[in-house]
Amino acid sequence: MSDTDRRLGRRALFVGGTAAAVGTAALAREELRHLWWRLPGVERPRVAGAVDFRGARWVAASSANYRRADRPDDYPVDRVVVHVTQGSYASAVKVFQDPAHGAAAHYIVRKDGRITQLIRELDVAFHAGERAYNERSVGIEHEGFVDDASSFTDAMYSSSARLTAAICGRYGIPVDREHIIGHVEVPGTDHTDPGPHWDWERYLQKIKS
Ligand SMILES: [Zn+2]
Repeated sequence: MSDTDRRLGRRALFVGGTAAAVGTAALAREELRHLWWRLPGVERPRVAGAVDFRGARWVAASSANYRRADRPDDYPVDRVVVHVTQGSYASAVKVFQDPAHGAAAHYIVRKDGRITQLIRELDVAFHAGERAYNERSVGIEHEGFVDDASSFTDAMYSSSARLTAAICGRYGIPVDREHIIGHVEVPGTDHTDPGPHWDWERYLQKIKS
């Protein structure tokens, strides 16, 4: 064995020793943490009650009203769809928790600006009435009625705009009317929300500010 070989040997041993000291289990965990999202069939770890928007309150929708997914890895997210509940906050939560309803949005914004999250953004919520639009979007409900202008308060606009700004930032969605749309603009829909009283200019201004 030459001196060079000896040095290499010691070096290899040193590297091996370091690995052993860290522990193979810890290394494997570390490796998984960096690679798991590339592995097919490996779901992102989820924490019960976790929300995607800080300050939102978690209330789980019925699992019949969304499909588990791993967005944006399986479906790119490039739209935010604005809805109006056509009823109270309580009635919206009730139907979203009803497995027979067949629909639910990711978020509900109340008149006073409080935000509830019912479905993780990872998952495909059934809110747009169209499969491709469900897969590509985050759905936000607003408490109120399309034909009642007083439904849409400043607190609601401000709070919803902060939420949409965060979503756009997260997925690189441009803040414009091509990407932030009303349910009425989903191809093939017969829904009219958010209706003529929803102030798009004001909403986009707030999202940008
Ligand atoms: Zn709608």
